[in-house]
Amino acid sequence: MHGSGTSSSDRSSVSDHLARVRRNIVAACTQYGRNIDDVNLLAVSKTVDIATINEVIAAGHRQFGENYLQEACTKIATTTHPGIVWHYIGAIQSNKTIDIAQNFSWVHTVSRTKIAERLSRQRPAHLPALKVMIQVNISNEASKAGIAPADTSDLVEAMIGLDRLEIRGLMAIPAPLADFSAQRDTYRRLKELKARIKARYGDDLPHFVDLSMGMSGDMEAAIAEGATWLRIGTAIFGSRRHTH
Ligand SMILES: *Cc1c(COP(=O)(O)O)cnc(C)c1O
Repeated sequence: MHGSGTSSSDRSSVSDHLARVRRNIVAACTQYGRNIDDVNLLAVSKTVDIATINEVIAAGHRQFGENYLQEACTKIATTTHPGIVWHYIGAIQSNKTIDIAQNFSWVHTVSRTKIAERLSRQRPAHLPALKVMIQVNISNEASKAGIAPADTSDLVEAMIGLDRLEIRGLMAIPAPLADFSAQRDTYRRLKELKARIKARYGDDLPHFVDLSMGMSGDMEAAIAEGATWLRIGTAIFGSRRHTH
Protein backbone atom coordinates (compact mmCIF):
# COMPACT_ATOMS: atom_id res chain seq x y z
CA MET A 1 0.00 0.00 0.00
CA HIS A 2 3.00 2.28 0.45
CA GLY A 3 4.63 0.91 -2.65
CA SER A 4 6.91 -1.42 -0.73
CA GLY A 5 6.23 -4.37 -3.00
CA THR A 6 4.41 -7.65 -2.93
CA SER A 7 5.74 -8.97 0.36
CA SER A 8 4.02 -6.15 2.25
CA SER A 9 0.67 -6.79 0.60
CA ASP A 10 1.08 -10.57 1.06
CA ARG A 11 1.63 -10.09 4.76
CA SER A 12 -1.34 -7.82 5.27
CA SER A 13 -3.51 -10.29 3.39
CA VAL A 14 -2.43 -13.03 5.78
CA SER A 15 -3.88 -11.14 8.75
CA ASP A 16 -7.00 -10.40 6.67
CA HIS A 17 -7.32 -14.11 5.96
CA LEU A 18 -6.87 -14.92 9.63
CA ALA A 19 -9.61 -12.45 10.56
CA ARG A 20 -11.91 -14.00 7.96
CA VAL A 21 -11.24 -17.51 9.25
CA ARG A 22 -12.02 -16.35 12.78
CA ARG A 23 -15.30 -14.78 11.60
CA ASN A 24 -16.25 -18.01 9.82
CA ILE A 25 -15.55 -20.01 12.99
CA VAL A 26 -17.75 -17.68 15.04
CA ALA A 27 -20.54 -17.95 12.45
CA ALA A 28 -20.36 -21.76 12.37
CA CYS A 29 -20.33 -21.95 16.17
CA THR A 30 -23.48 -19.85 16.26
CA GLN A 31 -25.14 -21.94 13.58
CA TYR A 32 -24.33 -25.30 15.17
CA GLY A 33 -24.71 -24.37 18.82
CA ARG A 34 -21.04 -24.65 19.73
CA ASN A 35 -19.34 -22.62 22.43
CA ILE A 36 -16.63 -20.57 20.73
CA ASP A 37 -14.28 -21.21 23.67
CA ASP A 38 -14.31 -24.93 22.84
CA VAL A 39 -13.18 -24.47 19.23
CA ASN A 40 -9.46 -23.74 18.92
CA LEU A 41 -7.71 -22.59 15.77
CA LEU A 42 -4.36 -24.14 14.87
CA ALA A 43 -2.56 -22.17 12.16
CA VAL A 44 -0.81 -24.78 10.01
CA SER A 45 2.40 -23.02 9.03
CA LYS A 46 4.32 -25.75 7.18
CA THR A 47 6.44 -24.21 4.39
CA VAL A 48 5.49 -20.70 5.62
CA ASP A 49 8.44 -18.40 6.35
CA ILE A 50 9.19 -16.76 9.69
CA ALA A 51 8.25 -13.25 8.51
CA THR A 52 4.77 -14.45 7.63
CA ILE A 53 4.42 -16.39 10.88
CA ASN A 54 5.40 -13.19 12.71
CA GLU A 55 2.54 -11.34 11.00
CA VAL A 56 0.11 -13.91 12.36
CA ILE A 57 1.69 -13.62 15.81
CA ALA A 58 1.31 -9.83 15.59
CA ALA A 59 -2.38 -10.36 14.84
CA GLY A 60 -2.67 -12.14 18.19
CA HIS A 61 -2.38 -15.77 17.15
CA ARG A 62 -0.34 -18.18 19.29
CA GLN A 63 -1.06 -21.79 18.21
CA PHE A 64 0.97 -23.16 15.27
CA GLY A 65 1.06 -26.58 13.64
CA GLU A 66 4.06 -27.95 11.75
CA ASN A 67 4.57 -31.12 9.67
CA TYR A 68 8.27 -31.17 8.84
CA LEU A 69 10.52 -31.64 11.83
CA GLN A 70 13.73 -29.94 10.69
CA GLU A 71 11.87 -26.93 9.37
CA ALA A 72 9.81 -26.79 12.56
CA CYS A 73 12.80 -26.97 14.91
CA THR A 74 14.46 -24.07 13.08
CA LYS A 75 11.30 -21.98 13.42
CA ILE A 76 10.89 -22.88 17.09
CA ALA A 77 14.49 -21.83 17.79
CA THR A 78 14.15 -18.52 15.94
CA THR A 79 10.65 -17.48 17.03
CA THR A 80 11.41 -16.04 20.44
CA HIS A 81 8.04 -14.43 21.06
CA PRO A 82 6.75 -15.74 24.43
CA GLY A 83 3.57 -17.76 24.59
CA ILE A 84 3.79 -19.48 21.21
CA VAL A 85 2.51 -23.06 21.39
CA TRP A 86 3.84 -25.53 18.81
CA HIS A 87 1.91 -28.60 17.68
CA TYR A 88 3.46 -31.43 15.69
CA ILE A 89 1.02 -32.73 13.05
CA GLY A 90 3.31 -34.66 10.69
CA ALA A 91 4.31 -38.28 10.25
CA ILE A 92 6.44 -39.69 13.09
CA GLN A 93 9.42 -42.00 12.56
CA SER A 94 11.02 -43.63 15.61
CA ASN A 95 14.31 -41.78 15.22
CA LYS A 96 12.46 -38.42 15.30
CA THR A 97 10.62 -38.86 18.58
CA ILE A 98 13.33 -37.22 20.69
CA ASP A 99 13.17 -33.94 18.75
CA ILE A 100 9.39 -33.98 18.99
CA ALA A 101 9.42 -34.71 22.73
CA GLN A 102 11.89 -31.87 23.35
CA ASN A 103 10.39 -29.14 21.14
CA PHE A 104 6.61 -29.40 21.05
CA SER A 105 3.72 -28.99 23.49
CA TRP A 106 1.27 -31.08 21.47
CA VAL A 107 1.44 -34.01 19.03
CA HIS A 108 -1.66 -34.82 16.95
CA THR A 109 -0.33 -37.84 15.05
CA VAL A 110 0.42 -40.70 17.43
CA SER A 111 -0.77 -44.01 15.99
CA ARG A 112 1.60 -46.70 17.36
CA THR A 113 2.37 -47.93 20.88
CA LYS A 114 6.11 -47.88 20.24
CA ILE A 115 6.02 -44.20 19.25
CA ALA A 116 3.92 -43.34 22.29
CA GLU A 117 6.35 -45.14 24.61
CA ARG A 118 9.34 -43.33 23.14
CA LEU A 119 7.67 -39.91 23.39
CA SER A 120 6.79 -40.52 27.04
CA ARG A 121 10.29 -41.79 27.89
CA GLN A 122 12.00 -38.92 26.05
CA ARG A 123 9.84 -36.07 27.33
CA PRO A 124 12.20 -33.84 29.35
CA ALA A 125 11.46 -33.78 33.08
CA HIS A 126 11.35 -29.99 33.27
CA LEU A 127 8.50 -29.78 30.74
CA PRO A 128 4.84 -30.60 31.41
CA ALA A 129 3.46 -33.87 30.06
CA LEU A 130 3.28 -33.95 26.27
CA LYS A 131 -0.31 -33.50 25.09
CA VAL A 132 -1.05 -36.17 22.49
CA MET A 133 -3.85 -37.12 20.16
CA ILE A 134 -4.28 -40.43 18.44
CA GLN A 135 -4.50 -40.25 14.66
CA VAL A 136 -7.31 -42.46 13.35
CA ASN A 137 -7.56 -43.61 9.73
CA ILE A 138 -11.22 -42.71 9.80
CA SER A 139 -11.82 -43.22 6.08
CA ASN A 140 -10.08 -46.63 6.15
CA GLU A 141 -7.78 -45.63 3.31
CA ALA A 142 -5.13 -48.22 2.49
CA SER A 143 -2.43 -45.62 1.93
CA LYS A 144 -3.19 -43.34 4.86
CA ALA A 145 -1.51 -42.84 8.20
CA GLY A 146 -3.37 -43.48 11.40
CA ILE A 147 -4.66 -46.45 13.34
CA ALA A 148 -7.74 -48.36 12.19
CA PRO A 149 -10.89 -47.33 14.10
CA ALA A 150 -11.33 -50.90 15.37
CA ASP A 151 -7.82 -50.93 16.88
CA THR A 152 -7.97 -47.51 18.51
CA SER A 153 -9.17 -48.53 21.95
CA ASP A 154 -6.35 -51.09 22.26
CA LEU A 155 -3.82 -48.34 21.56
CA VAL A 156 -5.47 -46.08 24.12
CA GLU A 157 -5.30 -48.87 26.68
CA ALA A 158 -1.60 -49.38 26.01
CA MET A 159 -0.96 -45.64 26.42
CA ILE A 160 -2.81 -45.14 29.70
CA GLY A 161 0.21 -45.98 31.86
CA LEU A 162 2.60 -43.61 30.03
CA ASP A 163 2.93 -40.93 32.66
CA ARG A 164 4.70 -38.27 30.56
CA LEU A 165 1.83 -38.17 28.07
CA GLU A 166 -1.50 -36.41 28.52
CA ILE A 167 -3.95 -38.25 26.29
CA ARG A 168 -6.14 -35.53 24.81
CA GLY A 169 -8.34 -37.15 22.18
CA LEU A 170 -8.54 -38.22 18.54
CA MET A 171 -7.40 -36.70 15.27
CA ALA A 172 -8.22 -37.54 11.65
CA ILE A 173 -7.40 -36.45 8.12
CA PRO A 174 -10.35 -37.83 6.11
CA ALA A 175 -10.36 -38.54 2.42
CA PRO A 176 -11.44 -35.26 0.77
CA LEU A 177 -15.17 -35.08 0.18
CA ALA A 178 -16.95 -32.20 -1.54
CA ASP A 179 -20.37 -32.96 -0.09
CA PHE A 180 -21.14 -31.29 3.25
CA SER A 181 -23.27 -34.09 4.68
CA ALA A 182 -20.67 -36.68 3.69
CA GLN A 183 -18.01 -34.58 5.47
CA ARG A 184 -20.24 -34.52 8.54
CA ASP A 185 -20.81 -38.29 8.41
CA THR A 186 -17.05 -38.90 8.52
CA TYR A 187 -16.44 -36.51 11.39
CA ARG A 188 -19.44 -37.92 13.27
CA ARG A 189 -17.78 -41.35 13.19
CA LEU A 190 -14.67 -39.89 14.84
CA LYS A 191 -16.83 -38.17 17.48
CA GLU A 192 -18.66 -41.42 18.20
CA LEU A 193 -15.43 -43.38 18.44
CA LYS A 194 -14.13 -40.84 20.95
CA ALA A 195 -17.34 -41.15 22.98
CA ARG A 196 -17.05 -44.96 23.10
CA ILE A 197 -13.45 -44.76 24.29
CA LYS A 198 -14.35 -42.15 26.87
CA ALA A 199 -17.19 -44.34 28.16
CA ARG A 200 -14.88 -47.34 28.47
CA TYR A 201 -11.71 -45.75 29.87
CA GLY A 202 -12.96 -42.40 31.11
CA ASP A 203 -11.67 -42.81 34.66
CA ASP A 204 -8.15 -43.23 33.30
CA LEU A 205 -8.51 -40.43 30.75
CA PRO A 206 -9.31 -37.22 32.63
CA HIS A 207 -8.12 -35.03 29.73
CA PHE A 208 -9.73 -36.95 26.87
CA VAL A 209 -11.77 -34.05 25.49
CA ASP A 210 -10.33 -33.15 22.09
CA LEU A 211 -11.21 -33.80 18.47
CA SER A 212 -8.56 -32.49 16.05
CA MET A 213 -10.51 -32.35 12.82
CA GLY A 214 -11.38 -29.84 10.12
CA MET A 215 -9.12 -28.20 7.53
CA SER A 216 -9.63 -25.29 5.15
CA GLY A 217 -12.07 -27.23 2.94
CA ASP A 218 -14.29 -28.79 5.59
CA MET A 219 -14.12 -26.59 8.67
CA GLU A 220 -17.87 -26.05 9.03
CA ALA A 221 -18.65 -29.78 8.96
CA ALA A 222 -16.01 -30.39 11.63
CA ILE A 223 -17.40 -27.63 13.86
CA ALA A 224 -20.89 -29.05 13.43
CA GLU A 225 -19.63 -32.45 14.65
CA GLY A 226 -17.69 -31.26 17.67
CA ALA A 227 -14.17 -30.29 16.55
CA THR A 228 -12.08 -28.71 19.32
CA TRP A 229 -8.98 -28.11 17.15
CA LEU A 230 -9.30 -26.90 13.57
CA ARG A 231 -6.08 -27.29 11.58
CA ILE A 232 -6.12 -24.49 9.00
CA GLY A 233 -3.35 -23.79 6.51
CA THR A 234 -4.50 -22.65 3.07
CA ALA A 235 -7.34 -20.39 4.28
CA ILE A 236 -4.81 -18.38 6.32
CA PHE A 237 -1.58 -18.59 4.33
CA GLY A 238 -2.79 -19.24 0.79
CA SER A 239 -1.80 -22.16 -1.39
CA ARG A 240 1.54 -23.66 -0.49
CA ARG A 241 4.16 -22.83 -3.07
CA HIS A 242 6.35 -25.81 -2.44
CA THR A 243 6.18 -29.04 -0.52
CA HIS A 244 8.83 -31.34 0.85
C1 LIG B 1 -1.44 -29.23 5.72
C2 LIG B 1 -2.28 -29.82 6.80
C3 LIG B 1 -3.44 -29.17 7.27
C4 LIG B 1 -3.94 -27.87 6.68
O1 LIG B 1 -4.66 -28.13 5.50
P1 LIG B 1 -5.32 -26.92 4.66
O2 LIG B 1 -6.20 -27.62 3.71
O3 LIG B 1 -4.18 -26.19 4.01
O4 LIG B 1 -6.05 -26.07 5.62
C5 LIG B 1 -4.13 -29.74 8.31
N1 LIG B 1 -3.72 -30.91 8.88
C6 LIG B 1 -2.64 -31.55 8.46
C7 LIG B 1 -2.23 -32.83 9.12
C8 LIG B 1 -1.88 -31.03 7.41
O5 LIG B 1 -0.80 -31.70 6.99
